[in-house]
Amino acid sequence: MDSMDEKFMKEAIRQARKAYALNETPIGCVIVYEGKIIGRGYNRRNTDKNTLAHAEITAIRKASRKIGDWRLEGCTLYVTLEPCPMCAGAIVQSRMDRVVVGCMNPKAGCAGSVLNVLQTEGFNHQTELTTGVCQEECSGMMKSFFKELRQAKKKKGN
Ligand SMILES: [Zn+2]
Repeated sequence: MDSMDEKFMKEAIRQARKAYALNETPIGCVIVYEGKIIGRGYNRRNTDKNTLAHAEITAIRKASRKIGDWRLEGCTLYVTLEPCPMCAGAIVQSRMDRVVVGCMNPKAGCAGSVLNVLQTEGFNHQTELTTGVCQEECSGMMKSFFKELRQAKKKKGN
């Protein structure tokens, strides 16, 4: 496994932990250009009461601001969970070179699980894709989050 991929996925995991601390589903993302992080994001959907507040969208917005272009050619996006349809669409629109995924999302993932939006030949752009980087750590974080959520619900009695 590529040690740079692991290094940057750990940074995405750090972002995911920020979501975790807000009781948000722990999903984190970083975007890397020429070996440097130019955008970070974590899931804030409930906190911001905004469907668009996914980790990837936030990271793309920040990376574009930093680069001064909507095109993120030459960039790699690291995300702890396989992107949803909205984020996969935004990634294609941004012309991202490459996407690195931690763990897969069988119910909503669009990097090969439900669909593969990132690599559909009919679109004018496809990304390179690497999956399963720091997979155990990423999926373990999700599992413990949902386990705690279930326990909290039980305590409340609903
Ligand atoms: Zn998303």
